[in-house]
Amino acid sequence: MNDKPPRFTITCNGCGESVPTGSWSWRHSCGGTLQLDIAVDAARVDSCCVAEDTRLSRFAPVLPLEHAPETAIGDTPLLIEVIDGVQVCFKLEYLNPGGSFKDRGAYVTVVRCAELGFKSIVVDSSGNAGIAIALMGLRLGIQVDVFLPRSTPDGKRQLLRLLHARLHEVDGDRMQVQRETLSYAATGAAYAGHWWNPYFAHGVKTMAYEALHQIPDVDCVFSPVGAGTVLLGLNTGYSELATAGITPSAPKLVAVQAAGYSPVALDLGAADVSAAPSRLADGIAIANPPRRREIADAVTRSGGFGMVVSDAEIASALRWLLARGYLVEPTSAVPLAGLMRCIREGRVRPGQRILLPLTGTGLKVLDELPHITDGAFGS
Ligand SMILES: [Zn+2]
Repeated sequence: MNDKPPRFTITCNGCGESVPTGSWSWRHSCGGTLQLDIAVDAARVDSCCVAEDTRLSRFAPVLPLEHAPETAIGDTPLLIEVIDGVQVCFKLEYLNPGGSFKDRGAYVTVVRCAELGFKSIVVDSSGNAGIAIALMGLRLGIQVDVFLPRSTPDGKRQLLRLLHARLHEVDGDRMQVQRETLSYAATGAAYAGHWWNPYFAHGVKTMAYEALHQIPDVDCVFSPVGAGTVLLGLNTGYSELATAGITPSAPKLVAVQAAGYSPVALDLGAADVSAAPSRLADGIAIANPPRRREIADAVTRSGGFGMVVSDAEIASALRWLLARGYLVEPTSAVPLAGLMRCIREGRVRPGQRILLPLTGTGLKVLDELPHITDGAFGS
């Protein structure tokens, strides 16, 4: 039995220095991002795979936590659709309680903050990440403060208030929001921004552990990339499973980015689609993500590649999904837009099996969906 919490290390990706694990760190003093590594072996993985147990807490032996409390997060269905002979395995992450895969990352983040004694967490996201952190904070009795631009749509504000988050509206751009968030964090709250904090990926990795049992042999994973949290989480999970000898090798990772927000794909040598900057993929509209190099390195190590898709391609993939009852947000259609082009161009062939997480629910953006499906972005 592996009922003891796993040992883990935190290292700076910039200078390589070790960082203490017994206190909260979201960035190294040199400005580098932090990498959290857990010594995972086959015995630990086996003890996560107790028959019939579908709870997220069963992954405690491979999570950087003292205890893994019960939650309704995870255990999302996997559905296979065949597109021109290619098996596309949709992992329905938008069915998580907060409506996105980010619930998984928020789970590990907030539980760890609670273990380290924090009574308050601060984030600078009004999107899926803010909602996921607020939901977990509510469950664990931790106050969540959210800094957001004054221009944030009302629907998001209302949802955050419903989850008892305290809202701080900021005049100015995203950088000003981050400055005010960090200055608030200096008063004793844990800053849990998901672009930075190294615990987030270890929540998201549970998607790979679940998927392995639902569909053992996957050739490729197509992932949307903004800050890289889906891709880095899946990379963490599949790398651990390969290191522990559970899978012979990890699948290739394909990073799909939206036009105008594609630094990682361009670093990987992808062709730009020369389209206007995306207005649809707001969940991944990030010009220069802090983990840019790590994302590109993970893709390269896996033997995968990067791609850039246009809003016309995203709208077309979104219509395909909505027409089959997958009620997702436009950002979730980004990897399918990439995959559909790869299938057309023969880069992905019949018989191959692709894992494709559908990351976020369309229920949060119902006012936008009819406009997109009406053909405003091309048909
Ligand atoms: Zn450093």
